[in-house]
Amino acid sequence: MPNIVPGVVWQPVDVGNRARRIKGRGLCGHVAVSSSKNLAPGPLATRASDWHFYLPKSGPAIQYIDLDLQCWATGAGNSTMAAFESEGGLGTEAQVNAEPWTDNQLNWAARILRHMHDTEGVPLRVMASSESSERGFGTHRLGVPGYMTTGEVWSSVRGKSCPGTAKHDQRFEIVRRAAGGASLEDDVNLSDPLSWTRPDTGKTVTFSVADWIAYTNYYTGQAVSQIADLTAKVDALTAKLGSATPAGSKLPTEFDLSSIARAVADELDRRDRDNDPDTGRSS
Ligand SMILES: [Zn+2]
Repeated sequence: MPNIVPGVVWQPVDVGNRARRIKGRGLCGHVAVSSSKNLAPGPLATRASDWHFYLPKSGPAIQYIDLDLQCWATGAGNSTMAAFESEGGLGTEAQVNAEPWTDNQLNWAARILRHMHDTEGVPLRVMASSESSERGFGTHRLGVPGYMTTGEVWSSVRGKSCPGTAKHDQRFEIVRRAAGGASLEDDVNLSDPLSWTRPDTGKTVTFSVADWIAYTNYYTGQAVSQIADLTAKVDALTAKLGSATPAGSKLPTEFDLSSIARAVADELDRRDRDNDPDTGRSS
């Protein structure tokens, strides 16, 4: 059974007696310099290169070569690196450098990387170079003479814009998507300790994540009810001032809103101090 990424269009091409790929290292992104929606490698007898996948700007990725086998897209990286080609890369050098991968291309690149992570342990990280010790996701450019410093040579064409700068910079986004957009929330448990240092006192407190959530919810609720309470008092005061104005004199048409805001903030501070077991009375 060939190793196919779920969801791709499987369109196998003849690869002859192709060597197996050494698994676990990574995936390399290329740009095809083409507006084709499906760029199958040419006849085996005459083809100089081929690639596992093609990513059109829209629509599903197409897979041509079994991921268990090598493809010929990445020079000295072929024995270990899977590779995709992608629609785009046409125009002037400036246009090539400015053109990003589409959302669709980013998602398919992420799905391929994720499949390689799940099935062969490729780490979800960006390769820093084409060094043989580097694993994860990289672009062809990492191994293009003229861009690269050290590592495996992945191209015979010096300075080849494969891909341009905008795509090269998206390698972090591909890794992020492959990780499912993982964020802090996905990695913490409710029982994990979480510390916070008060900027005003420098004092550090540590609670469980669950307690932090309860604590912040409680004080948000307190603040909301205090603001409602203060708003009512300001309204009452406004009405009183209005009725206290002697007949015939001019009613105030403007309030000093910044003074009122300051007074409200001071009052909230005072109540916060009084309620804080660290600094004030708690009853
Ligand atoms: Zn390339």
